[in-house]
Amino acid sequence: MAQEVMAFFDGRIVPLKDANVSIATHAFNYGTGVFEGLRGYWNADTEDLYVVQPAPHFARLKRSARVLHIDLPYSVEELVDVTRKLLRANQFREDVYIRPLAYKADAAIKVGLSGISSAFAMFALPMGDYVPTAGISVAVSSWRRIADNMIPSRAKVTGAYVNAALSSDQAKADGYDEAIMLGDDGQVSEASSSNLFMVRNGVLITPPVTSDILEGVTRQIVFDLAQEFGIPTDVRPIDRTELYSADELFLCGTGVQMAGVTQVDRRPVGTGKPGPITEKIQQEYFRLVRGRSPKFRDYVSAVYHD
Ligand code: PMP
Repeated sequence: MAQEVMAFFDGRIVPLKDANVSIATHAFNYGTGVFEGLRGYWNADTEDLYVVQPAPHFARLKRSARVLHIDLPYSVEELVDVTRKLLRANQFREDVYIRPLAYKADAAIKVGLSGISSAFAMFALPMGDYVPTAGISVAVSSWRRIADNMIPSRAKVTGAYVNAALSSDQAKADGYDEAIMLGDDGQVSEASSSNLFMVRNGVLITPPVTSDILEGVTRQIVFDLAQEFGIPTDVRPIDRTELYSADELFLCGTGVQMAGVTQVDRRPVGTGKPGPITEKIQQEYFRLVRGRSPKFRDYVSAVYHD
């Protein structure tokens, strides 16, 4: 790692400590930013850092920006390129988390979205596992997931993460590792910052994109791995009590990675241990992210040697 953590700010790579905004910034006052979370995984054998699926993450950032009328004057390819330059400037040789942000930047007291200028910034920091990846316990939250006509979950909006924080905080205070949120219709939506998959009778099932979820990049990787392994998948609404009947349950997301759930609302999931489908997909995921899966090598982008 370089002496000083560097960030991308105002079109330049500068020390993170100098990448600051005013307290009058619109996004700080009203939550009018959109963001992404990507991971880079260090592989000591190849001495390279692999960024997982950068193009799908930046494509989603652009879709999120469109929802909030945020101008993001970079193409997906340019954003991928800036990411590589930023990581190189930091000389990271460890696992990292990458946070791009596009936001309403004017110093303006004005509730609205039009006529307010936009900015883009990005920083990255070292980060390992932030939740355990096996044997986690979850609770169905009394906080409901925000609905598409309130604050769209499909867009990764900074202010919307109050919803995630309330549910996650409550779950942790009550002694669980994570929260599962139901949508306004009472059906299972997702966890506070990850998507959910359930296995019933050998079929991998996840809620549809119309269940107020963030359309996860990792969720798509799970579909691709399932197809590779010939595991049948089904996308359909999930009832709360189906979680109690599930043979297996896991969460997936860039931050959470892939985490097997062994307890839901204090009821054991399946045998009470992570199941075989969860373990199979999880194992391949952890190979893939470090560029160790030849079949999925193009799912990661090497920072130093590509
Ligand atoms: N849902 C929410 C609410 C999230 O914050 C995240 C993390 N970005 C996910 C799902 C998983 O998305 P991804 O796999 O793209 O990280």
